[in-house]
This record gives sequence, C-alpha cells and structure tokens, in this order.
Amino acid sequence: MPDLIHLLPDSVANQIAAGEVVQRPASAVKELLENAVDAGATQIKLIIKDAGKTLIQVIDNGCGLSERDARMCFERHATSKIQTANDLMAIHTLGFRGEALASIASIAQVELRTKRVDDEVGTSIIIEGSEFKSQTPVSTPDGTSISVKNLFFNVPARRNFLKSNTLELKYIIEEFLRVALVNTEVAFTLYNHDRILHQAPASNLKQRLVALLGNAYNQRLIPVSQETGIVNIHGFIGKPEFSKKTRGEQYFFANGRFIKNPYLHHAIENAFQQLIPKDSFPTYFIYLTVDPKNIDVNIHPTKTEVNFQDIKSIYAILHSSVRQSIGKFNISPSLDFEVEPSMEITPLPKDAEVNQPVIKVDPEYNPFEKKVRPQFEIQMPPRVKAYEEQWKPLYDPLKDVHFKQEVPEQEIQANQQSIAGWNQEDLKSKSIRPFQVQNRYIISSTQSGIVIIDPQKASERIIYERLLTSFENNQVSMQNQLHPQTILLSPEDFEMTMELIDDFAKAGFGIRDFGKNTILVEAVPADCQETNITDLFESILEELKTGTDEGKTKHYVRVARSMAKSMAFYRKTRLQPEEMEGIIEQLFACKVPDLTPGGNPTMIFTSFEDLNKKFK
Ligand code: ADP
Ligand code: MG
Repeated sequence: MPDLIHLLPDSVANQIAAGEVVQRPASAVKELLENAVDAGATQIKLIIKDAGKTLIQVIDNGCGLSERDARMCFERHATSKIQTANDLMAIHTLGFRGEALASIASIAQVELRTKRVDDEVGTSIIIEGSEFKSQTPVSTPDGTSISVKNLFFNVPARRNFLKSNTLELKYIIEEFLRVALVNTEVAFTLYNHDRILHQAPASNLKQRLVALLGNAYNQRLIPVSQETGIVNIHGFIGKPEFSKKTRGEQYFFANGRFIKNPYLHHAIENAFQQLIPKDSFPTYFIYLTVDPKNIDVNIHPTKTEVNFQDIKSIYAILHSSVRQSIGKFNISPSLDFEVEPSMEITPLPKDAEVNQPVIKVDPEYNPFEKKVRPQFEIQMPPRVKAYEEQWKPLYDPLKDVHFKQEVPEQEIQANQQSIAGWNQEDLKSKSIRPFQVQNRYIISSTQSGIVIIDPQKASERIIYERLLTSFENNQVSMQNQLHPQTILLSPEDFEMTMELIDDFAKAGFGIRDFGKNTILVEAVPADCQETNITDLFESILEELKTGTDEGKTKHYVRVARSMAKSMAFYRKTRLQPEEMEGIIEQLFACKVPDLTPGGNPTMIFTSFEDLNKKFK
C-alpha cells in the first residue's frame, strides 16, 4: 500500500484559510483597512462596487512596500508585524497573523500597486486565485492601492451564499465605522460607486463621531473619562433620553481595535438602569487602553473577542465612570440653554417640492362614541368585511394561487398539515365564547377541538396579509403628515432606506432624502397614524436587518413583514369579548392563519380526538 498523506498545495491551503478569514466582502474590507492603518497612513479611501461583490479597493498613503515585499505579502504567514512568539504578548498593530492577503488573493482577482517614498518607481502585482499573473514597475503615488475584484470568483458556493447587496453593504459600512471611529487621526472616505457615503477628516473623537453619525450627535453625547493603573477609559455615552429602540450604536474599542464584550456591555447597561425604558438600548462609544501584556487579542482570526486579564476591575471602573458621567452631565437635562430643540429644523433642500398637507376629515367621527376595539381595530379591505366571506379562505386556503407565490413552501406545508383538521362548521359554531387568560392568550373552542391564540402573533399575520393585499392591488392608503417628521438614521439605515424607498412608498410611507442621513417622512400608512413614527420606523428597519432574509424575497414582502411585526406590538391588555371575536374572525380570514409571516405559530390547536387520546 502506498502512503496516503501529502501536503496540500499553498493555493488550496490558502483557500481553506480564507474560509475562516474572509466570510463576506465586509471581512476583506476590515482586513484591508486595518492593513492601511498599520501602514501608518493618514488618508484612507475605500471604494465599493456592488456591495463589494465586484470591487473593494483601499487606497492609502502609508509606508508602501518594496518590490520584494509586494510579492512576499501574498505568501501565507508572511507578516512584517511580529517576529517571535514573544511579540504576541505585546501586539501594537491590528494585523499580525500574515494571513489576510494570502487568503484574499486565493479567492479573488487582486491588483496591488505600491510605492515607498524613497523609491523612484512603484510596483504593480496581479494575482488571481493565488496564481501570480504579473509584476511590473509602474508610476504610482506613495502608498498602497489594493483592488479586490470579483470576490469568490472561484468559489461559486460562497458567492451564492452572499446576502442581498443592501445587507452586504450594511456589513461593509459597519466594518468601516469600526475602523474609522477609532483611528481619528486618519482621514477616511467611503465611496459606494461614485457616491460618497462617509467622509471624515482627521479630527478629535467628538468631531469624528459627529462626522460619521450626524450633527445631531453634538447634543446627544456625554463624555466619559477615567484614568487608573489598570485601565484608561475615555469616550462618550448617549444621553439617556436619546437611547435607541434598536441596539445599534454600541461600540467598545480596546487598544485601538473594535471589540465585543458582553460582560463590559452589562456594566454600561447596568449603569443606565432605570434611566431608560426597558426596551431601549443605551448608546456608547467607549475606548479602553490597557497594557498590551494584559490583553489577549489572539483568540480568533476575526478578532472581535479579546481576553482581559483583570476584567472584574475593568467592569467596576467602567460602571462607576459611566454612572459618574450620567450624574455630572445629566442632572438637569432640560436646562440645556445652548440649543432650543424645537428650533433645530433642517432647511429643505433647494429644489425640494413642498406638498400641501392634506387634512382628512372623517364626517362619521363622533367624539363621544366609545371605541370598541382600540387595540385591534384593523381595517380590513371590504371583501373580508362580510362575515361569511371571511371564513371561506380557510376551507381551501391553498387554492389562492395569487397569494401562494408569496408564501414560502414550508409555510404552506405546515399550513396544510395543521389546517387539514379544520372545517367550516368548526368555526361558525363556536360552542363557547372566547375568553382570555393572563391578559394575553385567547382560548376558544370549536366543534372539533380547542384553540389557543396569541393575539400579538395573530395581529401580525392579519396586518401582514392586509398589507400584502393592498400592495398587490396598489391600493395602499397613505396619510399625509400634517407635520412631516425628520428622522436621523445611522448611515447604514439611511442607505438601506434609500434603496428601499419605492418599497416603502408601496407600503404607504412617503419618504424623502433630507440629506445628512436624515429622512423626511411626509406620509405614513393610514393604519399607523397614531403611532410614534420614529419608533415604528426604527423597528421596521431593525426587523429588515435582523429578520431572515433569503435574499430572494421581494423587498415589499420584507417591508410588509417587518411592518406587521412592528405594528402588531401588543401590550398586555384585557380584551373585550368583541375584540377577541374580531381577532379570531380576521385571523381565520387569512390565507395562512396559523403562522406569523416569520413562521412562528399564531395559535395552538388541539383536536378533541387528540385530547381524548391523552385521557385514555
Ligand atoms: P498582517 O496584517 O497580519 O501582517 P496581511 O496578510 O494582512 O498580514 O499583510 C501582510 C503584510 O503585507 C503586512 O505585514 C504588511 O507588511 C504588508 N502590507 C499589507 N497591506 C499593506 C499596506 N496597505 N501598506 C503597506 N504594507 C502592507
Ligand atoms: Mg493584515
């Protein structure tokens, strides 16, 4: 028998390593930006095309590479940053593994152009899928430009695995921010195709935060600062009143690198306790400096987890300095004479059209009439208003081909199974009136069993289907806002909103680009007139970002899904019998009554047959 084991060729080994290091375009962006910072650049430009799928280019004015190093840097474990294992104890650079360029070059077409200040000409290298194509002298500015084209061109499985451009771009912007928020002495620009998404000159930290997050942050931030023998802490926290409905702006940096640390996060959350509502998140940008020998950054190639030697003390120091800052700067939040918040109105762009606000008057409105279903008054399209009509879809929910397209296959199957046992008589002959337990679940009985409904999940389904129907029939009712509202978004949220602007319009949101990551909401879907629009919109965005995105789902379906989830927010309340019946009726009028659009159950049904079996 011959021996079987052999060493893998470098190109294969690199591709395997790339699986760890480069999961998506954003990971390549992180590596390239960090290399530029390590090279001592004072100006870094990042250019992205098609969410990094066709091009990621980083141009820096750093130290550049010699002709030989330009070749060497693509070798595996080739680094200029450490030499011995001891150096691992005191890492001062962001990179040190010497893996990134080798990995990236194994799965993309890469061109490197670089020149050191003292060299007369620069050098250009082309390498594709680990294969050297050429090295030629070129004239090029001092510094390095590296273009990564067609990422995963030779690993189609990975390429297909990538998410929508919106989502991939969001990841890229996030990586960009993680580097730009800490290297304030470096000027950064981020281009998406030819459009500048971010531009931040070299500045101090506060200016950097404002440049990247928007002017409004000038008034929102409280400084934190503490120097001790164990750790130096500086940075900013958001004033409690600006806490966010979404967990977005929470950044820790340790010795110049972005880190995640749930334990330290808890220190801050705890310091904010009772100052912000339960479902809100504090904003923070905290920069920790510790002796490099007391921190281990060598845990994982993507390196956002680090170990601190004295984490318990750091926790305590962080907690107390955050509390101190809140105390010092926030005793009288209303006595801020510098700004008159109501005067902070961004002027309309020059060529903006101003729409006459439309006031709708409801001639039927009677202020003395008691609203019967304040929570779940859900205006159904007229066709479902008729009682009998409502139940029909249930008997044959899968016939409706038109709708079927939007329902994922597994949803239909699950539906088929659980609905199979139902019949028309069941629903009509409710033998008992529904009742509620725990101020939440609705329990009702039908001819063939018992059903328990979660009203929140149920309204998610009801609202979702209604939205879809009106999207598809182009009959969304929009309500113009008497006082159009501006909402300041994070750059990624802003970018996503702009990309989905037509889908939002289809859903009833009249949105306009108001500049500087701000949108102007001129109209809202008629159903959510009384809701807090900023909160609603932010939670819709959060849903869009975190909700399962198959990449292929139509945008407006995703918008509908997240709107439904956000609008169905259910507070524990006692429901009137009519309200419960209303929910049951409307739920069973749905095509897929038993699941939320996200695939969670809206109800639990147990047939008497099953019950009988259980009692045998
Ligand atoms: P690491 O950053 O872990 O050392 P990389 O594969 O990212 O590994 O880079 C390999 C080497 O290439 C670096 O150690 C550095 O010497 C050189 N290098 C990479 N990018 C740049 C750049 N933008 N400017 C100058 N040198 C660079
Ligand atoms: Mg590197």
